Amino acid sequence: MTPRTLPITKPCFDEEDFDLVTRPLKSGWVVQGPFVAQFEQLFARFAGVRHAVASSNCTTALHLALLASGLCEGDEALVPSFTYVATANAVEYCGAKVRFCDIDLRTFTLEVTSLPSSLTERTRAILPVSLFGLPADLPGVQAICEHHGLFLLEDAACATGATINGVHCGNWGNGGAFSFHPRKAITTGEGGMFVTADDALAAKVRSLRDHGAGKSDLQRHAEKGGSLLPTFEMRGYNYRLTDIQGALGVGQMHKLERILAGRRRGAGFYLEALSELPFLLLPHVPTGYGHGYQSFVCLLTARPGELPTLSDLPALNIRRNKMMALLEEAGVSVRQGTHAVHTLDYYRRRYNLSDEDFPNSLLADRLSITLPLFHDFTAEDATYVAENLLAAWRATA
Ligand SMILES: *Cc1c(COP(=O)(O)O)cnc(C)c1O
Repeated sequence: MTPRTLPITKPCFDEEDFDLVTRPLKSGWVVQGPFVAQFEQLFARFAGVRHAVASSNCTTALHLALLASGLCEGDEALVPSFTYVATANAVEYCGAKVRFCDIDLRTFTLEVTSLPSSLTERTRAILPVSLFGLPADLPGVQAICEHHGLFLLEDAACATGATINGVHCGNWGNGGAFSFHPRKAITTGEGGMFVTADDALAAKVRSLRDHGAGKSDLQRHAEKGGSLLPTFEMRGYNYRLTDIQGALGVGQMHKLERILAGRRRGAGFYLEALSELPFLLLPHVPTGYGHGYQSFVCLLTARPGELPTLSDLPALNIRRNKMMALLEEAGVSVRQGTHAVHTLDYYRRRYNLSDEDFPNSLLADRLSITLPLFHDFTAEDATYVAENLLAAWRATA
């Protein structure tokens, strides 16, 4: 095995991006302006949504959407217990309480059949997370939200390129929020995008991201009498994206299809190279679902083809961690999938939770391994990872 160095992911920037980011510097318009507007239009068209509203990151997009929904103190929102901590934090920013729900271990997304038992008379919203680029069971969550009159906000941070029957994430329920952090398929450094079909909701989020201003600077400058400052109808926030980031977003949108195709090709190389490893469960993609492969996340198991259980956990978790250290030594960057948020200090204390309250999330946290994946990942890269995974498994027996 010739040594390789494989990062967990890497951004795809080219000459067009380098040129685009200098244009706001040359024009002097550097905050939320014409490039952000263009980025929004390109993203809306790509995702097949009516409105796209850029914000400083996905966490602030989630916050704004929940504020606009009216979520406040005394309310509760359902959040999967296996997700990035931002999903739960956005709920708490509104003064509302988080109620965690467990995941399906095969898909790492909300276990929909368990949702009804988590509803209380205070439940106002559900935030399904399309984790790692695989859509959650959004039609299933939508049916529950419609039946109970709940706000459905997709945490679509990882879901650029993720579809169900050809329909892109962000099209279920009231809206969705995407991330352009460097760990995601396309990046603007920091960056987020709220999408919705609802005119009033889009207008409210637009205003809230800009201190509650009645009109944006871009609108004001486009009209006669641009010297008149806007009125402020609500207490909002400064969650604007810069136009430098907007310009980069435009460049990233131009090559999005190529980046996604490269990631899907890379995932295909993995599915082939890893198919013979009996200790690894590979990403499961339900029929009709289009995986965006923001991350390629596998699960360690004690029995070939079977899901791990809590009794496997202590020994298998130690082995997973040793394997990850060996892979890092071999130049293969690895991470656990994401967090069991209910086990994080703040949330455990705040809601008096114990690790086993959400067993599938605990298993996913302790036994998942994210493997390197990026737009120009090769078959040889996949073979190198497979060989090192096998070597690490044997070395830790
Ligand atoms: C990355 C991520 C976020 C946060 O996105 P930012 O743009 O970094 O704020 C939220 N939820 C999930 C599931 C994520 O993966």
